[in-house]
Amino acid sequence: MTSKLLVVGSVAFDTIQTRAGKVEEALGGSATYVSLAASRFAGVNLVGVVGEGDFPQEHVTLLKSRGVDVAGLERAKGRTFRWSGVYADDFSSRTTLDTQLGVFESFDPKIPAPYLDSRYVLLGNIHPALQLKVLDALPRAEFVAADTMNLWINVTRPELERVVSRVHLLVVNDEESFLLTGERQVRLAADRILAMGPSAVIIKRGEHGALLFTRDSVFYTPGLPLPEVVDPTGAGDTFAGGLLGYLAGESAHDVASIRRGMLYGTALASYAVQGFGVTPLTNLTRAQIDSRYDEVRKLTSVEG
Ligand code: AMP
Repeated sequence: MTSKLLVVGSVAFDTIQTRAGKVEEALGGSATYVSLAASRFAGVNLVGVVGEGDFPQEHVTLLKSRGVDVAGLERAKGRTFRWSGVYADDFSSRTTLDTQLGVFESFDPKIPAPYLDSRYVLLGNIHPALQLKVLDALPRAEFVAADTMNLWINVTRPELERVVSRVHLLVVNDEESFLLTGERQVRLAADRILAMGPSAVIIKRGEHGALLFTRDSVFYTPGLPLPEVVDPTGAGDTFAGGLLGYLAGESAHDVASIRRGMLYGTALASYAVQGFGVTPLTNLTRAQIDSRYDEVRKLTSVEG
């Protein structure tokens, strides 16, 4: 039996500059990356908001063609969320040049009736009060993962702590884990987060991979060293989408499945960074994904 994945988060137009070039107003947003990655393994129900007049039908067609249900993609009066960023030449840092929230500013997720029995859920980095509202609407949720960002840790900590206490998996990067816990050492930060409630936490370390901590285990997925990076935007979202999509597709959330899902997430993220925007995610075959999965797995296998 497979389950569908419910994804809530931003849908955006991204303008991105890297040493490899520039794209303007490309389809992006964390929920878009998550959905296009997850839909390689499971059906996806997307809840988000775009502007009623500026979001091209071709983007909707693309999402639908990849198995993403867009009944929860609201069209509101105003402009679609726009984000713009530039990467350092060595990709070690990114500067946000512009954020225009548009209709995302007053986003109030509405879950269509057919999604209310969702069992697998990925709460993207929206206001924690909205993450809580979504959780309250899903009585059957069996495995919920949440993402967040510095802004919410700094500005809405009590609500964010309530979210953390109610999810099964928190996915953060090392800077966010430090902000949330005050601990610079990754093991101590993970222990603090696990003490807040989740049964698992993943701490992402950019190109260096990701660590999974449960109460009694630690697992590491390295990032695949690539000859050429074009655009790292959405790599973390792609990783999380691949992982959660795999779990929903398998209808499983035991530790071994989470580990396999992390390898799939890493494989998908390695493709995502090799082109601008979501384009690399749209035409991958299952054979390509499986071959990268093997490459990632072999990175830490003595036998090869
Ligand atoms: P990542 O590279 O994983 O940080 O994700 C980049 C994606 O996040 C881009 O497609 C942006 O449109 C989206 N994004 C940027 N800022 C925000 C924000 N404040 N809230 C939600 N999504 C955002």
